[in-house]
Amino acid sequence: MTYFNKVSNDNLEVLDGQQRITSIGRFFTDKFAIKDENGMEQYFSGIAADKQAKVLKTKLLIYECEGTESEIKEWYRTINIAGIPLNDQELLNAVYSGPFVTLGKEEFSNSQNANNQKWSAYIKGSANRQDFLERALDWVSKGNIADYMSRHRFDKNITELKNYFNSVIDWVSGIFIDVESEMRGLEWGRLYEEYHKKAYDPAKVSAEVQKLYGDPYIKNRKGIFEYILGGSVNMKLLNVRVFDEATKKSIYAVQTEAVKAKGESNCPLCATGHDANRKKIWNLSDMDADHVKAWSKGGTTSAKNCQMLCKTHNRAKGNR
Ligand SMILES: [Zn+2]
Repeated sequence: MTYFNKVSNDNLEVLDGQQRITSIGRFFTDKFAIKDENGMEQYFSGIAADKQAKVLKTKLLIYECEGTESEIKEWYRTINIAGIPLNDQELLNAVYSGPFVTLGKEEFSNSQNANNQKWSAYIKGSANRQDFLERALDWVSKGNIADYMSRHRFDKNITELKNYFNSVIDWVSGIFIDVESEMRGLEWGRLYEEYHKKAYDPAKVSAEVQKLYGDPYIKNRKGIFEYILGGSVNMKLLNVRVFDEATKKSIYAVQTEAVKAKGESNCPLCATGHDANRKKIWNLSDMDADHVKAWSKGGTTSAKNCQMLCKTHNRAKGNR
């Protein structure tokens, strides 16, 4: 079953069933073979004439849809209730069907496109489910896909869409020469807008990616790419492992015990100061764990690199 949207008197757009139509066309033109009753691979041109005729005479059920955008949208939802739920982009393709969507699908929704593998390194999903088209539209429209599709609905080219998409892909693949699985599905459009004017040395970037991938303290590997693009300063993106409660408690106990006789503060930075906090004994809840040697300089998140600081000093140190 295939659904067409009637664009004009002799112009139909595939509304649903693009994959089926494409497969039938490819089989008739000998693009692939299917197994016959004896398990032999047969191309269409190779099967017996009477069987060819039988296939060619088989009637396909075709629906032609006409109506307003909202009627088609509503109807499209209805026909697909029994099947796989439609995603947003499939619905938008139906609503804004026309030359622009047709060209967009030819480029981005073609499972035979040689670029699909490259795109898959950066984009989640598949050509068939419109994920590449959706991403391309999302990037060029800065997130306003429906608006962009309605404005370009009757365009006879997708030049802007294609160029912008390729700019983003070329930019990412030029900076990050190793493909890591965590790159898939990142907000490359936003990152491109934010960072494409900065210069990067791909060899240095690659070395830093490898170093960070080898760091057991990084909990969020997805953040590595934006961290590097931003100049390797925003550690929040990496979600570096923090000290656990047991370590904090035991270090607190050791520090507090050690200063008892000396009458100094249990925050080592307060103890070297000159104000009233010089002798203050903080409660555990008023202190935070600090990496003695900073994580960014190779310090580990282990007890021997942990010290408890009062919250004020910990914050001050963290901001350096
Ligand atoms: Zn302090």
